[in-house]
Amino acid sequence: MTIAIIGGGAAGYFAAIEAKRNCPSADITIFEKAPKMLAKVEITGGGRCNLTNSFRLISDVKHAYPRGHKLMKRLFKRFDHRSAYEWFEREGVGLTTQEDECVFPQSQDSHSIIDCLMGLATRLGVKQKTRHCLDSIARNDDGTLHLCFANGMERDFDRVAITTGGSPKGEGLKMHAMLGHEIEQPVPSLFTFNIKDRNFLELMGTVVEPVIASIPGTKMRAEGPLLITHWGMSGPAALKLSSHAARHLNERQYQSPVAINLGKKSLNRIIETLTNDIYQIEGRGKARDEFVTCGGVSLASIDLHTLESKVCKGLFFAGEVLDVDAITGGFNLQAAWTMGHVVGKHIVEC
Ligand SMILES: Cc1cc2nc3c(=O)[nH]c(=O)nc-3n(C[C@H](O)[C@H](O)[C@H](O)COP(=O)(O)OP(=O)(O)OC[C@H]3O[C@@H](n4cnc5c(N)ncnc54)[C@H](O)[C@@H]3O)c2cc1C
Repeated sequence: MTIAIIGGGAAGYFAAIEAKRNCPSADITIFEKAPKMLAKVEITGGGRCNLTNSFRLISDVKHAYPRGHKLMKRLFKRFDHRSAYEWFEREGVGLTTQEDECVFPQSQDSHSIIDCLMGLATRLGVKQKTRHCLDSIARNDDGTLHLCFANGMERDFDRVAITTGGSPKGEGLKMHAMLGHEIEQPVPSLFTFNIKDRNFLELMGTVVEPVIASIPGTKMRAEGPLLITHWGMSGPAALKLSSHAARHLNERQYQSPVAINLGKKSLNRIIETLTNDIYQIEGRGKARDEFVTCGGVSLASIDLHTLESKVCKGLFFAGEVLDVDAITGGFNLQAAWTMGHVVGKHIVEC
């Protein structure tokens, strides 16, 4: 069985390793468009890689996954944060859980995760090819899948997994639409808010915690520390709210009121400015933004048990290319491990 994994990121490596373990005779190749594998994982968590979360502060999966929570709830029964934690520790990566429940490698270095994934893939015999950008997919009459790459290479594979990650501008989604997959319009998630209110900006550099940030007139709200920057609002409360309100704010071209409710009585100056106050979002922050994409290949086009396409047999999807994304805290990489695990099981089944 020949298998192509398109995208050498978190979901792609995990799917390839799990597939090879489930079926050692399978001929598996990861194709990555960039000159380097796992480049995004390298920069996660500020270079420390927040690879999962203890989920202790998450009362319902839907609070962590504004898109795809039903799918994640279902797949977590098969491979959840505990499974991922044990998986990496078993492979020799010591992990540590911070006070805020985020999980990092003990080394505090994303290279521990990268070395683990690349080392395992290499030892298992997974082929890994960089500078291979998939351009198109077609189904042959015999059921195999014909892949064309931008460098001119063309080849048929028995099975293919698409793990190309997020794409806020929608690049790479056209080929999936052409095969008949529904696409949820991609928009950025996890961004900061531009606020022009002068009194507010005078508090630049202040961290206030905890606050409840919300979009008035909606149920969208997020709790956590708020960081006041020279352009507006940042920090977990703003990033989480941007995730819940990603589509809402995009439809309003990032013009919306935002309410800040400060629960503490201590910080007098800040309380005067912030308690239950309403500010106007006037744009999306340009720094640290577009961490994650809201939207992508619609879950309506995917078998939710196997992650195989409903419209193209033999084609599987995992990771951020699907319409699944989370707030910050390690939940996005957890989704990549979980979906990679599931694809790694079903892609080798006859
Ligand atoms: C700065 C930053 C920090 C982050 N920090 C964290 C964190 O600490 N914790 C967390 O949980 N999440 C974090 N995230 C989100 C997380 O990195 C992603 O959700 C996760 O990497 C998604 O995994 P993936 O495998 O689906 O996609 P990716 O890891 O993005 O991998 C997809 C790969 O596919 C390749 N590719 C794309 N198109 C093609 C093509 N046509 N042909 C071949 N290859 C292709 C890409 O080059 C890429 O290497 C962060 C994101 C960013 C941007």
